Amino acid sequence: MFSKILIANRGEIALRVLRACKELGIQTVAVHSTADADAMHVRLADESVCIGPPAARDSYLNIPQLLAACEITGADAVHPGYGFLSENARFAEILEAHKIAFIGPTAEHIRIMGDKIEAKLTAKSLGIPVVPGSDGAVTPSDDAHAIAAEIGYPVLVKAAAGGGGRGMKVALSAADLDTALSTARSEAKAAFGDDALYMEKYLGKPRHIEIQVLGDGRGNAIHLGERDCSLQRRHQKVWEEAPSPALNAESRKKIGEVVAAAMRKLKYRGVGTIEFLYENGEFYFIEMNTRLQVEHPVTEMITGIDLVNEQIRIASGAELQIRQEDVTFEGHAIECRINAENPRTFAPSPGRISYYHPPGGLGVRVDSGVYQGYKIPPHYDSLIGKLIVHGRNRVECMMRLRRCLDEFVVDGIDSTIPLFRDLVDNQDIANGMYDIHWLEKYLSEDGTN
Ligand code: ADP
Repeated sequence: MFSKILIANRGEIALRVLRACKELGIQTVAVHSTADADAMHVRLADESVCIGPPAARDSYLNIPQLLAACEITGADAVHPGYGFLSENARFAEILEAHKIAFIGPTAEHIRIMGDKIEAKLTAKSLGIPVVPGSDGAVTPSDDAHAIAAEIGYPVLVKAAAGGGGRGMKVALSAADLDTALSTARSEAKAAFGDDALYMEKYLGKPRHIEIQVLGDGRGNAIHLGERDCSLQRRHQKVWEEAPSPALNAESRKKIGEVVAAAMRKLKYRGVGTIEFLYENGEFYFIEMNTRLQVEHPVTEMITGIDLVNEQIRIASGAELQIRQEDVTFEGHAIECRINAENPRTFAPSPGRISYYHPPGGLGVRVDSGVYQGYKIPPHYDSLIGKLIVHGRNRVECMMRLRRCLDEFVVDGIDSTIPLFRDLVDNQDIANGMYDIHWLEKYLSEDGTN
C-alpha cells in the first residue's frame, strides 16, 4: 500500500480523496494555488505545497510543479481527482517514469478513450453498442454529404478531441451540413487544437445513462450499475440519480454484463464510466471517462462501495476483491450539483459565503469544500458542493431531498439551490419522465433562461 498520496486537485474532490486516504491510514499532501491557500483540503491534509499562481495552467495543470511537490514531500502516488490532469496520458507516463504511481488507468487506455473516434471504434470492437455513424474521421476530402445521407438526418457533427459539449453541431438536413462541419471544425481547432471530426446519428429524445465499472488491470472487472444523468444544461450534468427511472433489473443486468465483459477484455484498471444515450430501449455508446466522476457518490450510496478506496487499492497492485454477485443495489440516490451561480441567469457568483448551513440527517451526504466565511475564488469552476440523498425508494429519496433543500442555507453569494427546489416539485421529475433536452426546455419555457 502507498504511504503518502499527493492529491493533484482542489475543492470538494480533493477533500473526497483525502477522506479515503485518511480511512486507509495513508498520509496526504495537498497542493494549491495562491488563490486556494485557505481552502479546506489544504487545512485538512497532513502537508501542503503551494504550486503556483491562480491560473490553472500555472498551478493545477503545471506538471513540473506537481513533480517537484512529489519530490519535496516524498509522495509515492498521485490521485488526480476529476478534470485538470485526470485524463492526461502524458502526466500518467511522466509519473510512472519517476516511479510515482498514477491512481488511474494505464496511459494507453487514457489515450484511446481520450480520442472519441478511437474510443468508439474500440468500444465497437469490444461488443459495446455504438451510435450509428461515420466509420472514423470525416476529412475535408471525404464526401460528407454521402456519409450523412447514409446515416440519415438529423446528424450530429462531433469533435474527436471533444469535451464539455464543445465542437458539436447538429445538421437537421443536407442544407445545414456544410455550416455544421465548418463551425464544428473551427470550434474544435480553437478549443482542442485538433480539428478532427466525425458524424453520428442525432438522437431526438434520448436519456443519458452511464455504467460505472471497476477493474484491476489483470482481467477482473465488474459493473456497479447505472446513473441517469439526463438532466443537463449546455451538456453539463445538473442532477444525477441511481438507479435510472427508465431501467429495470433485467435491462440493467444486460447492459452491465456487456460493459463488464468489455472491460475484462481490455484489462481495464481502476474506475471508469461508459456513457450511453438510451432511446427506445436501446443503448448507444458515446464515450468513456477513464477517471472518477463528479456523480460517483450516487453509486456509492446504493452499493455501499467506496470507489476512491477501491481506486487506491487497485493502483497499489491489489486484486479486485468484489465479485459481481457481491454487488447489490439498495434504494435510490439523487445528487444535485450546487453551483455558485444565479439560479435564473446562471451567471457565476464568486465571493464570500457569509452564512453556511448544510443539511444533515439519515441518508444525507454533502460533499463540499466550502465553509462559512470561505471566499469562492473566481478562477475555477463554480461548484459549491454536491447534495446527495439516499432513500429506500425514489419517493422517499425525493421527499428527503425536498427537506434537505429547504434546510440548506448558503448566504452572501447566489447559488442554484432555488432551481433544485423547483425541480423537486415538478411533476415530470416526480414521474421520472425526462430526457436530455428536458431541462433546457423547462428553463426556456419558464422564462428563467
Ligand atoms: P462531451 O465529451 O463534449 O461531453 P459527449 O459525446 O459526451 O460529448 O456528449 C455530450 C452530450 O451531447 C450528451 O450527453 C448528449 O446530451 C449530447 N449528445 C452526444 N451525442 C449525441 C447524439 N448522437 N445524439 C443526440 N445527442 C447527443
